[in-house]
Amino acid sequence: MPTVTIDGKPYQAQLGETILQVARRGGIWIPTLCYHPAVEPYAACRICVVEIDRGGWWQVVTSCNYPIRRDLTVRVNSERAVRARRGVMELLLARCPESPELRAIAARMGVDGTPYPTVTEAQRNCILCGLCVRVCDERIGASAIARVGRGVERSVAAPFRMPSEDCIGCGACAEICPVGTIVVRMHEEEVEISPFKNRVKLKHCAECGRPIGSELVHKALADRGGPTLVELLATEQFCPRCKRKQLAKEICTRHALRDEPASRGA
Ligand code: SF4
Repeated sequence: MPTVTIDGKPYQAQLGETILQVARRGGIWIPTLCYHPAVEPYAACRICVVEIDRGGWWQVVTSCNYPIRRDLTVRVNSERAVRARRGVMELLLARCPESPELRAIAARMGVDGTPYPTVTEAQRNCILCGLCVRVCDERIGASAIARVGRGVERSVAAPFRMPSEDCIGCGACAEICPVGTIVVRMHEEEVEISPFKNRVKLKHCAECGRPIGSELVHKALADRGGPTLVELLATEQFCPRCKRKQLAKEICTRHALRDEPASRGA
């Protein structure tokens, strides 16, 4: 069993675990945005960088996807690692200056603003972490959204930037978005996933006619089975809005590693 020494303190690790997992188990905070235990690590945002000892020199690596293969010495709170993470946060704040979620993590990191000009309206409010794309693909199986465009035009959208016919309106992308950019909007007959403009017909309660969620989600859940989700749909414990939120959460986390702590900003 390898030993990972983090900021001078030794921790036992399992082979293949990541630096982030070991650090979290040891109660060490490393900020994350594009990481969620329900989907494969992707190291897109780079807010989780730390330094590792490469035998005489120190390398900056992303902790969310760096696997432990042998004894390792890590610096989480060295001057260089902290400066690197703060630099990334300043760049992200330029894209998402109004996100309360992002500002809360920035404050915890000691970053209170950005020296960079804010981006254009088209790029605004998305940090391109890719969590929404991955959860839609890996967990929902819809692949309704993707990263599109190049360079400064890079963004997340449905194909051809048109409403997607593959979207089932589950809201998992909205639930997992770490900066609160994706929103589920309820209309009289449809649920809309904004900003993608995906719209899915609502199913209504057979008794009172109140909307009880997306028709396609009901169909997908019925096809997949799974008592937890079906029971959740049937329960009257939540109002429709909270029920959707609970459903999205359940879909996101039902395949997640059971022993992982909550990831967002944790
Ligand atoms: S609401 Fe649509 S785009 Fe978002 S995760 Fe569900 S299927 Fe994918």
